[in-house]
Amino acid sequence: MQFKLTEDQRTMVGTVRALTQDRFKGRALKYMDGSFPWENMKELAELGILGMAVPEEYGGLGLPVFDTALVLEEIAKGCYTTAMAVLGEVGTQTKIIASFAPESIKRRVLPKVCSGDLILAICMTEPHAGTDVANYRTNTEVRGDKLLLNGAKTLISRVDEAGMFIVFTRINKQPGRAGIGCVLIERDTPGFIVTGRHHTMGGENLASITFENCELPLENLILREDGFKKLLNAFNTQRCLNPSISLGLAEGAFEEAIHYARDRTAFGRPIGEFQGMRWKLAEMYRDIEVGRSMLYRACATANPFPDPYEAAIAKIYCNEMAIRVTSEAIQVHGGYGFTDEYPVSRFYRGARYGTLGGGTTETLKELVGKQLMTDFPDKDGFLAMGTF
Ligand SMILES: Cc1cc2nc3c(=O)[nH]c(=O)nc-3n(C[C@H](O)[C@H](O)[C@H](O)COP(=O)(O)OP(=O)(O)OC[C@H]3O[C@@H](n4cnc5c(N)ncnc54)[C@H](O)[C@@H]3O)c2cc1C
Repeated sequence: MQFKLTEDQRTMVGTVRALTQDRFKGRALKYMDGSFPWENMKELAELGILGMAVPEEYGGLGLPVFDTALVLEEIAKGCYTTAMAVLGEVGTQTKIIASFAPESIKRRVLPKVCSGDLILAICMTEPHAGTDVANYRTNTEVRGDKLLLNGAKTLISRVDEAGMFIVFTRINKQPGRAGIGCVLIERDTPGFIVTGRHHTMGGENLASITFENCELPLENLILREDGFKKLLNAFNTQRCLNPSISLGLAEGAFEEAIHYARDRTAFGRPIGEFQGMRWKLAEMYRDIEVGRSMLYRACATANPFPDPYEAAIAKIYCNEMAIRVTSEAIQVHGGYGFTDEYPVSRFYRGARYGTLGGGTTETLKELVGKQLMTDFPDKDGFLAMGTF
């Protein structure tokens, strides 16, 4: 069993690496104030990267989750903010539109995603319920050929930049998870109100939104009640793409740490010649490679959506690994690592996001643990698991 990139994948990743290292990395510090990396997005749109997850008939490249993960990993090695912005265009929201929206919406939305002319946001989290999706209160009434959306969402990314928002909502007040579907709303819809902004330690801004009697055409109903299972399937894509950013951040921090350990001297020799430092670097490298194997394996299960359990364990591991590795990279840099002058502190701040978004570590452990309790084979153990 071997993961070997194809020639096309190597070329694509090499192109993105050159762009990231030559341009995005140098600009990364300025986005820490919450500004959006429009210039980087424009350059990525020109390469077709923003349309990676969009099917070819709508102007995209129609690439699998694996290729998308490789590109995000590479961008994260230079600029976390840009990787997060790209994730918004190649992740769940685009998958939801491409997989479940009516044809008219696909034709209206997807080509603009590819060209970089439309930023899509996704609104799931509510002020009183994030993980606890069964308690969402936002509701959409279906009234003849119109929809009436009411509710509130919070901690939403790219609100100031997005032109359209996918909103997870109860349909006709149906209770529980089964009552949740989703609708599409444009930002200039009367009743769409931004009620607050939250600056984050990763640099980007999040915002809170209220929907007050927002009237939408019926075609904006993308999934009705009973659509929640489908939404979760699309969300499993995010569980491969979020950890690809974690992996990239860990690798970016590792690359910085290696250079620093070679250049910085103490007691008359490079700090990388001390066993304490070399072991640290070896452990960082080991953890990155374990994460890469888990993540690439999870991505390889996507058909078209990844296996939920493979994606969950890859996400749990890569998210926690990235926090550890980026923190160790700061340690290698000594006090300079804590300043803005070296990128490692930025890698660390970005890595802290991983365990929170796309399903928290605790909820994913719960998902995997529950599954193991019922399905782990009594007789043949690991030998009977799907990976052999
Ligand atoms: C940078 C960033 C970007 C984001 N972007 C978006 C976005 O674009 N759209 C969007 O909708 N949301 C977004 N979010 C919000 C994110 O999805 C939520 O923060 C996340 O789902 C957790 O919800 P919560 O914050 O309400 O935490 P809560 O659900 O209140 O959980 C708090 C803590 O309790 C733990 N917990 C909850 N239930 C259990 C349980 N059963 N067992 C054990 N522990 C449990 C959680 O794991 C967590 O540690 C973003 C968040 C961040 C940090």
